[in-house]
Amino acid sequence: MSCVFFQRRFLRATSTWLAVAAACGCWSASALAADDWADITEPMSGEPRIIGHHGGACLIGAEQLPPEGVGYQAVDLVRNRHYGHPTLIDYIQRLGQRVEAAGVGPMLVGDMAQPRGGPMPSGHVSHQSGLDVDIWFRLDLPPLARSERENLAQPILVDPATNRVEGVWGADHATLIRLAAEDERVARIFVDGAVKRDLCEREWDDRSWLRRVRPWHSHDEHLHVRLRCPPGATECVGQPAPPPGEGCHTFAPTPRPEVYPSPNRTLPPACAAVLNP
Ligand SMILES: [Zn+2]
Repeated sequence: MSCVFFQRRFLRATSTWLAVAAACGCWSASALAADDWADITEPMSGEPRIIGHHGGACLIGAEQLPPEGVGYQAVDLVRNRHYGHPTLIDYIQRLGQRVEAAGVGPMLVGDMAQPRGGPMPSGHVSHQSGLDVDIWFRLDLPPLARSERENLAQPILVDPATNRVEGVWGADHATLIRLAAEDERVARIFVDGAVKRDLCEREWDDRSWLRRVRPWHSHDEHLHVRLRCPPGATECVGQPAPPPGEGCHTFAPTPRPEVYPSPNRTLPPACAAVLNP
């Protein structure tokens, strides 16, 4: 579930891992076709279908997020990764409206999925099923022209030495995460452990949403939202629910894995016909 951060700062490590994974045969043949999935510029039309799980899935009937809307603007548009299941599009647009109403936006919407999902050649392990989206912590930018939204800086808002948020981190960031987590369609939201700790230490009238916010490495400049499989999506493979409780008992950063588990790199056989109809 590593995100933009992963690509920008760990490209060398990723390349090493790719070489190791390919050499040891850890990938299925279909997963090795990440470049093929990235080359597809249009969704496959049809009733929306998610085949697989977040770390190995393809997508039929995806929709493209409008590049800007109430309370949000999409960034890094040239990547062509702003596709998702219609449920994700609806989630983002509704969140944008709530962000606008709360006066903390506009929020910056980063990578979602490729037009037909599938593995990406860089930047992410997940984001394959059209149910994942990265939302940046940056809340300081006015509405920008589309051409101005490429390769923007992503300030890190966590001090790893103290495992505490720092810099411009404040109540608006906490509010953004709460608004994102309150939607019942959310399975999990991944943030750095220091961010989770900050959220746990704040006073809230309702704390039930904290359960869905989980600490994970590399999420110190954005949050990663993952929705649950939509009702009726029988080919979509979801995750078990988070453990009961607020999850405020430990904030140790989750270590970055040396090698990602190979099962996350395989695609269901049915995805071959989505790549090559
Ligand atoms: Zn992500």
